[in-house]
Amino acid sequence: MPFNVKKMYINGEWVNSQADQSREILNPATGEVIAVVAEGTVEDVKHAIHSARKAFDEGPWRSFSAQDRASLLLQISSLIDEHKEELAKLETMNNGKPLREALSDVETASDAFRYYAGLVRTSLGETFDSTIDSIVIQEPIGVCTQIVPWNFPLQMAAWKLAPCLAAGNVSVFKPAETTPLSAIRLFELMSELDIPPGVVNLVLGAGRVIGNELTSNEHVDKVSFTGGTVTGKKIMANSIETMKKVTLELGGKSPVVVFSDVNIDTTVEYALFGIFLGAGQVCSAGSRILVHEDIYQEFIGKMTAHAEQIVVGNGLDEGVEMGPVASEAHMHKVLDFIQTGEREGATLATGGKRIVEGNYGKGYFIEPTIFTNVSNNMSVVQEEIFGPVVTVQTFSSEEEAVRLANSTKYGLAGAVFTNDFSRALRVTKSMKAGTVWINKYHSVNNQLPWGGFKQSGFGRDLGKNSLLEYTETKVVNMNIHSSAVGFYKSFSDNS
Ligand code: NDP
Repeated sequence: MPFNVKKMYINGEWVNSQADQSREILNPATGEVIAVVAEGTVEDVKHAIHSARKAFDEGPWRSFSAQDRASLLLQISSLIDEHKEELAKLETMNNGKPLREALSDVETASDAFRYYAGLVRTSLGETFDSTIDSIVIQEPIGVCTQIVPWNFPLQMAAWKLAPCLAAGNVSVFKPAETTPLSAIRLFELMSELDIPPGVVNLVLGAGRVIGNELTSNEHVDKVSFTGGTVTGKKIMANSIETMKKVTLELGGKSPVVVFSDVNIDTTVEYALFGIFLGAGQVCSAGSRILVHEDIYQEFIGKMTAHAEQIVVGNGLDEGVEMGPVASEAHMHKVLDFIQTGEREGATLATGGKRIVEGNYGKGYFIEPTIFTNVSNNMSVVQEEIFGPVVTVQTFSSEEEAVRLANSTKYGLAGAVFTNDFSRALRVTKSMKAGTVWINKYHSVNNQLPWGGFKQSGFGRDLGKNSLLEYTETKVVNMNIHSSAVGFYKSFSDNS
């Protein structure tokens, strides 16, 4: 075998799968094997959870002050910065995204650790000066399992690990089975630091095999998950027995509402960026464009023409603007959606096929795809395709635009494009979505809470919200004046 098997990190040690199983990791741009990693089992997960439990209940971690934890997070951030190019290249090779996107993810990951290092040193609790002397303190919850998908492997790892550790919890972390490489590298870097054994644990393996244990084990206090809604529902059901705290960041079918007063060229570029960034494999992808009928013809003409010029290729190659989708299985899922769209009567304005010419045929490339003539009940309009596929619909009034925008089960994000400030705010307030962009798309900041309405989940990653969601709230009421209860007559008689 040409590769050393990359191991899991449990209780401060690099370990093989107890069943001695491994998995080949592929580059989705070439179909080549780029690494072999341990394939964890339920027993490995139990070992990791046990180690985490011990580290939280008995280890030195609980005595780490906010300052100590912040210092560790800053060191992690610096290590990410020092290995920025290497991490970005690894991400591109494993996930397929163009290098410039991977570099941006690495920067965001590093910034997340820096941000939470700062935030945890601010005051999180509350104090009251009233007739009851009381304080409210935020305490770590305990053992957190953290499960992330394959579209932003490193960035999601940072979004989960940074607030979890900042708040004083311990983690059992699982990357997606197809894209574990940047997380393994992150754990290699973290293992250089003085983090007590069991505080950060990395388990590898298939969610369908180890997911139940990660989300139902009685020693787990919180589950934080990013991924598909179907899996999110299973996780929620699993967590009920022991009442785990749960944060779910799930899918989306985000609308991009375009009114007739916009600059069409600028808006078309945002619309393309909204859907084709990450080859559409972004939870907040702007996958439904709603355009006012007065500008529809010009808008769709320009959008189609520019979509056809997007440079698709291996993300490591200079100038590539869109990479492959992340795996062969996912490519077939996206192509099935496209076929369903055609069967249901939608018109392919452009794209719709796998790209197979030359070297493309070895990877999992799909043409940037635009559907028109769609009706609202079609599956391509309602379901999260999670690929480079967008639908374009028209509307004639603001009311209709809002109704269409809110007409799916999802509510993660959305955008409105108009130069009418009042209309922008009206539509924004009517949209059922956790994030709404006005005249822009896809900007995310670690300081701002991130999560969804409706079946896009609940709880928030990022911002102060996320840090608080990794804490329990404890109220302490104090009798600082040594006063008596004064409730039973016999006590007052004796005094
Ligand atoms: P999943 O939601 O199944 O995968 C996300 C993570 O959950 C992965 O680490 C996966 O592991 C893990 N997982 C899978 N099954 C379980 C389980 N039973 N218990 C606990 N964890 C589990 O997404 P898929 O990769 O299957 O993609 C399906 C669809 O979900 C996509 O087509 C897309 O629509 C949506 N999705 C949304 C994302 C988002 O960011 N909101 C991200 C990814 C997908 P493993 O990789 O081993 O399966």
